Amino acid sequence: QIQVQNLHKSFGKLEVLRGIDLEVPKGNVVAIIGPSGSGKTTFLRCLNALEMPNKGLFEFSDGFKLDFSKQPKKNEILKLRRKSGMVFQSYNLFPHKTALENVMEGPVIVQGLDKEEVRGKAVSLLEKVGLGEKMDLYPHQLSGGQQQRVGIARALAIQPELMLFDEPTSALDPELVGEVLSVMKELAREGQTMVVVTHELKFAEDVADHVMFIDGGVVVEQGPPKEILKAPKEARTKQFLDRVL
Ligand code: ATP
Repeated sequence: QIQVQNLHKSFGKLEVLRGIDLEVPKGNVVAIIGPSGSGKTTFLRCLNALEMPNKGLFEFSDGFKLDFSKQPKKNEILKLRRKSGMVFQSYNLFPHKTALENVMEGPVIVQGLDKEEVRGKAVSLLEKVGLGEKMDLYPHQLSGGQQQRVGIARALAIQPELMLFDEPTSALDPELVGEVLSVMKELAREGQTMVVVTHELKFAEDVADHVMFIDGGVVVEQGPPKEILKAPKEARTKQFLDRVL
C-alpha cells in the first residue's frame, strides 16, 4: 500500500526526524507510540505533506512515487493528499458549518463532485459513526467525542486509501474516549489501512498489526504489538512503557 524510506524533517536547526522507514500493507493498522516531543505528530503530518519532508521516498502500490529530496511538483503533492484522510487531535472542524456540511466540504470543494450525490454519501458516513441524528448541528452543539466522530467521517469522505490519526482521543474527557476508539476499531475491522499516533496502548495492543516506538526522531523498535508492548528488547522502549503504564 504505502512504503516510506529514509524520511527526514528539520525545523531550522532542529532535526526532528532522522531517517524513518515505514511500511503499511493494505488493510493494516500501524500504531506509532513514543514520548512527547519525539516527532510522532511531525511524522504523521509529513505523510500527507502538511509538513514538507526534507528528504524521503514515498512509494504506493499503484506505482505512484514521490521523492522529497527533489522539490515535488504541486500536482504530485495534491495527489499524495488525495490518498490520505487526516484526523486531528483538536478535530479542526469548520465552526460555521454543520456536521453534514463539514463532511461534504472535501468532496464538493476539493474534488469538485456533485453536491447532491455527495450529500447522500455524507449522510451515510455520519450514520456509520453514529451521528445520523446530529447531522444538522454545529460543532459547538456537539460533545468532543461527537466532534471527533464528525472529524473521522469528514476524513473518510474523500475515500482515502490511508487514514491518518493524530492522537485522536487525547483532547477528550476520559468517558468520551471509548466512542471514538470503537469507531476506529470498526474501521480497522472493515480493512481500512490506518496509521495511528496514540497514547492508548490498550488500543494499540488490540487493534494494531504493527507498533513503532519512536524516540529522538528515529525508530527505536518496531514489531507486532505483543512483542513491542509486552516484551520490548530496547531499554528506551522499556523505560517509556514503565512510565506510561
Ligand atoms: P506529543 O506527543 O507531545 O504531541 P510528538 O512526538 O508528536 O509530541 P512533535 O509534535 O512531532 O512531537 O514535535 C517534535 C519536535 O518538533 C518538538 O521539539 C517540537 O517543538 C518541534 N516542532 C514541531 N512542529 C514544529 C514547527 N512547526 N516549528 C518548529 N518546531 C516544531
